[in-house]
Amino acid sequence: KGKIEFQNVHFWYPNRAEKKILDGASWKADSGQTIALVGPSGCGKSTSIGLLTRLYEAQKGTVSIDDVDVTMLNIHALRKMVGIVQQEPNLFNGTIFENVALGDVSITEEKVIHSCKIANADGFVQKLANGYNTLIGAGGIQLSGGEKQRIAIARAVVHNPPILLLDEATSALDAESEIMVQTALKSASKGRTTIVIAHRLSTLRDVDKIVVLKDGMVQEMGIVWHGSKAP
Ligand code: ADP
Ligand code: ADP
Repeated sequence: KGKIEFQNVHFWYPNRAEKKILDGASWKADSGQTIALVGPSGCGKSTSIGLLTRLYEAQKGTVSIDDVDVTMLNIHALRKMVGIVQQEPNLFNGTIFENVALGDVSITEEKVIHSCKIANADGFVQKLANGYNTLIGAGGIQLSGGEKQRIAIARAVVHNPPILLLDEATSALDAESEIMVQTALKSASKGRTTIVIAHRLSTLRDVDKIVVLKDGMVQEMGIVWHGSKAP
């Protein structure tokens, strides 16, 4: 579960058709692998993630999950298969529970607690007076950047998705929160196919493969060996 494949993907933004963002990009991630998507700014990394979540659709080629073209998938099913953490946590004025469950009635408090544990957010949530019912944002308590991002990670895994997309998930944080969020991301990505977009080289230490995007195509696919996987 969670195999991702880009096959000869061509994409341009309709309002900027003269610039091909992806121009025949092909790469894949096997189930459970962690792949780093790297390349110069503007090469199409975030766009590739948007193609996976169907924020955008490729004009040519296919983006598939478990051999099914994502454009053929039911959008609700796709949302549950793919969790996403971006640079900004994008929480709204509401309780922690509401921010993780996003109004899905199938999400129980137990599921929220479980995903907060996975995201290493359980500790500080327990310390708040009303726990998961603490109001956050302008109407309530201010969380630190790292705490907010851990709530965002809990939201990303609450449906236990086979795929996790991390788009600069630690870029906006100070060094101290970055370490804590990095640990949370490692825990959250366990057992999931994970696509990482990051600039810092340290993030690439733990990946299985590096996909380099340049001029709309995949320039290089390095296999990274580490720990027990070393040959
Ligand atoms: P990366 O994540 O690799 O930095 P992006 O995927 O964000 O790159 O962007 C690729 C290119 O597409 C950039 O040149 C960017 O300016 C452009 N772009 C991004 N979003 C849009 C949009 N909505 N409309 C037009 N161009 C866009
Ligand atoms: P940018 O990279 O242009 O600054 P953002 O990183 O803020 O853009 O967000 C990219 C887009 O992804 C936004 O339009 C946001 O609404 C959308 N988005 C956020 N979460 C999801 C999701 N789970 N699935 C699909 N799209 C999402």
